[in-house]
Parts: sequence; C-alpha cells; structure tokens
Amino acid sequence: MPKSIVGGNWKMNTTLQEAVSLTGLLKDNLKVSQQEGVVLCPPFVYLSAVKDILRGSEIRLGAQDVYFQPKGAFTGEISVGMLKDIGCDYVIIGHSERRQIFKEDNDMVNKKLKSSLQGGVSCIFCVGETLEQRQENLTEKTIRQQIEAGLDEVPSDRYNQIVIAYEPVWAIGTGKNATPEQAQEVHSFIRKLLTHLSNEIVAREMTIIYGGSVTADNIQSLMEGNDINGALVGGASLSADSFTKIVNIIKNSRP
Ligand code: PEP
Repeated sequence: MPKSIVGGNWKMNTTLQEAVSLTGLLKDNLKVSQQEGVVLCPPFVYLSAVKDILRGSEIRLGAQDVYFQPKGAFTGEISVGMLKDIGCDYVIIGHSERRQIFKEDNDMVNKKLKSSLQGGVSCIFCVGETLEQRQENLTEKTIRQQIEAGLDEVPSDRYNQIVIAYEPVWAIGTGKNATPEQAQEVHSFIRKLLTHLSNEIVAREMTIIYGGSVTADNIQSLMEGNDINGALVGGASLSADSFTKIVNIIKNSRP
C-alpha cells in the first residue's frame, strides 16, 4: 500500500515570523503518528528556520523548486546539494506555476528530477492539464507526455523516491476542485501508466496525491478514490487549523 503524503506548498507567502509560528503550531497540533508523511514547503529563505523548529518531529522539509546543475554561475538558483545540506528531504518539481509563469518545459523538469534523485532528495513531481486541454479531451495525452518526458532515463528502482502530484491547472488556487470521480479517473490512469513504465509491484506502491483547491471540507470525499494517496495543499496549508484538519482527515481515511 502506498505511503500517504500531505504536502503544504506555501508558495511565495509568509514572513519569517509567520513561517516560524505556522511551523510551531503544526508541530504542536499533530501527534507524532500523524506527522509521518507530512511535508512543509516554505520559501527557500525560510527553509533553515523551519528546519530548526521541526527538529524532534517527523514532519519533513521540502523546497518548492531546485536547479539541476550542481554549482556555478547560475545567479539566483539553488542546487540539490544545497537543499540536502540544510536538511530538505523533498523538492517540488514541475509545479504548474513554474511551467506556466517561468516557462519550464518537460525537458527542464526531467533534468531537475534526475539531479534531485541522484542527490538523494525525493521529488513531488507535479503534472496536470489546463482547462483548455480538458475541454479538448486532451487530459490523458497531456498527463502521459508530462510523465513520460519527466521520467525519461529515470530507472524504475528510483520510483520509490517519487511522489506524483496530479494537479489540474484549472483547479489550482481557483476554488474549483476536481470532483472525486474526475480525480480518481486521472489517478488510476497515472497508475496504469506507471505500471507500463516500471511494473505492477512498483506502480502499486507509488504515492499519487491530488492538488487543486483542497480544503478541510472537500478532502474527505477526494480520499475515497482508491488511487488517491494524499494531497498537495496550497492556500489551505497557510492556516495551521485548516492544514491540521486536512492532515487528520487524510490519516483517518487510511484503512
Ligand atoms: C498548489 O499550489 O500546489 C495548490 C494545489 O494550490 P491550491 O491548494 O491553493 O489550489
């Protein structure tokens, strides 16, 4: 059975004070058994401060992005080695905001994935279709291209370091979440695709999480999908109260 993962993607939000306070509240709110599989992804500049507070807890630290080169003249960028150095266990790769605003293509996503895995940092690999693609019946084709290109040259014995996040672009930050049926349909398609790329045993154990306007009110029904193993949460992860509720619902929905 796949491990459940709940990620909090804070995006470009919080002050240092808010980051510290949110982390402290989550550490206090969540019991140790509930902390497993919870990953906080603050902005780069607050990673170390958040890590300090997380010491002694099972909550993991994640970055929101990484560059694939190990070091050098890449002004403004952060390497996998740097993330590892300050205690990151995870990194989000291929988020739709990176793809759309910063023009990251599948090839860049693939380079980032490979270098993160080589450097020992697990990846939350985001895929998802736009509204236009869904309306034109291109959802599966888009997801297939993103996954096949993203995982190109990634050996399947590394798949256990990858969490796939299905995040329909039309659902991110819009308040319009996918219905549980829409989400399960794509998650099941992703698991079949992963079976082709690896094998049934590997694919069965892979964690596939849903993201896109997840709240404490809609997560319960989303978790009813057999292939939905957790969530990547944006807006609702900025409130300790909402994020705690989401984590608890996800943990309690596991058999
Ligand atoms: C995200 O950024 O990954 C996300 C899912 O955002 P939101 O929950 O705000 O839609």
